[in-house]
Amino acid sequence: MKRKHDEAEEHFANIERAEQSKWPNDQWHGEIDNCDVCSRPMHSERYMVDGPAEGTSDPRWGNLCVVCALKYSPTIGWGKAQLYRNAGDKWALVAGGPPRNASVE
Ligand SMILES: [Zn+2]
Repeated sequence: MKRKHDEAEEHFANIERAEQSKWPNDQWHGEIDNCDVCSRPMHSERYMVDGPAEGTSDPRWGNLCVVCALKYSPTIGWGKAQLYRNAGDKWALVAGGPPRNASVE
């Protein structure tokens, strides 16, 4: 189990490293206590993925731990899934955010 989690975390760490854009002001609003799929406590997790939470053609979305995210939404991108990193008191958006030309600034 531990190894599976390490592999999943590495997958998303690579995505964060490869991400070219930054969204310094974007973060997840609201509390996330547990993964919506496996109920793993999220407070000690490094990453959270907001994305499809089931393997159907019209999946519901949820807040996923890396293990579930690797299974259901391994691809991070705008409209696909967003990757957030645990920043202690918030979840900071680190990959898959809105493209810059879609900004209203
Ligand atoms: Zn999970």
